[in-house]
Amino acid sequence: MIRMSSPNEFAQEKGRPVKGEGWRLSEEEYERLQDPRSVGLDVRSEGWRVGEEEWREWLGTLLRSGSRLVAPVEEDGLSLFRAVSSAAEVSLRGYGNTRWSPKEFLFPATEALFSYRLLGDEVELGAPPADGGEQVLFGLRPCDAAGLARLDEIFLEDGEDPSYAARRDRTAIVSLACDTARPECFCTAVGGSPAGTEGSDLQLLPLDGAWLLRALTPKGAQLVPASAAGWTPASAADWRRAEELRLAVEESIERDPLSPEWAPVLEGAFAQPLWEELGQRCVGCGVCAYVCPSCSCFDVKDEGDAFCGARCRLWDSCTLPQFTRHASGHDPRPTRPSRYRQRVLHKFAYFPLQHGGRLMCVGCGRCVRLCPVGIDIRESVERAFSAGASGEGRP
Ligand code: SF4
Ligand code: SF4
Repeated sequence: MIRMSSPNEFAQEKGRPVKGEGWRLSEEEYERLQDPRSVGLDVRSEGWRVGEEEWREWLGTLLRSGSRLVAPVEEDGLSLFRAVSSAAEVSLRGYGNTRWSPKEFLFPATEALFSYRLLGDEVELGAPPADGGEQVLFGLRPCDAAGLARLDEIFLEDGEDPSYAARRDRTAIVSLACDTARPECFCTAVGGSPAGTEGSDLQLLPLDGAWLLRALTPKGAQLVPASAAGWTPASAADWRRAEELRLAVEESIERDPLSPEWAPVLEGAFAQPLWEELGQRCVGCGVCAYVCPSCSCFDVKDEGDAFCGARCRLWDSCTLPQFTRHASGHDPRPTRPSRYRQRVLHKFAYFPLQHGGRLMCVGCGRCVRLCPVGIDIRESVERAFSAGASGEGRP
């Protein structure tokens, strides 16, 4: 139970002047607040207990305001993210994770970057077609929201990509904490949580048939409708229950950590013969990259002819045979094992070494579930780390 400290208690306990608000925390609550994976029991943030009727009404308000609303829907027996025209289309019940990640709404599978037209000796360049205004991505699992935060690092921090930046700027993300974990889920092994907040502007936390809605960023707070004045504020019991459910889901994920601290050892395992065995199974279909929320490889092609057309960007994958082939015909990764190694090491060695220890995998489990030959990236990382750490088979 968390209760507000009185000013005197605060001053006595901290031995310093009373400024602002203070909260009395038990040791256990303090520990949880230190845990970056924790929902945080942030008693300062506002939260509401909302039922299905309330969130559907809210989504209706967003649609009427002209926002594009992207949310999980049921389609041909699959759960998929789609732009919806009515709140009634949204399906949150019984959905573990969508078949595809929601990344296509920030990083489309194909997009025109600009058009070109030859006018005598001059080339006229045109802006790409406008693709809409504000959009709300609703109902993303926390792993997917964290995956989009990785895309932010790639497209915004390592040199800003104007197309991505414009789309990102007008996008708000509402995540949906998990009330169950699929067998392939491993967010906790890569530093995430079933109620992780990274990449989210607002979050819905399950509450036994209702939800606790909390705003996490100023952008999220702006999305809360005026009608929230009539919503029931979340009680301390609601926050506690949300935390209990988070812990229960976390405990159901039985995976040892895949630590970012392994990155140097994995990088050092580059020449291990083990990659031959791991990568020979890969058929180079690219599915793992296409369904992954944090994979960002793309190719650029001109669609048109020498006189007019458009320069397009389209998803690509490092496991596909032509991905690294040079114009000369030379391919520095000519075999399936060398390409599969690149996929694993990029996510678990190169990216964390370049981005302050942040892994480029958020544990959504899609590649584990959908790889047609049953390759499990978790096992690959563990085996490569063991081989690298022991020096076994080192050439
Ligand atoms: S899904 Fe499996 S077979 Fe296909 S490219 Fe990825 S690892 Fe290889
Ligand atoms: S590598 Fe696999 S488990 Fe990790 S984020 Fe991508 S699809 Fe999900």
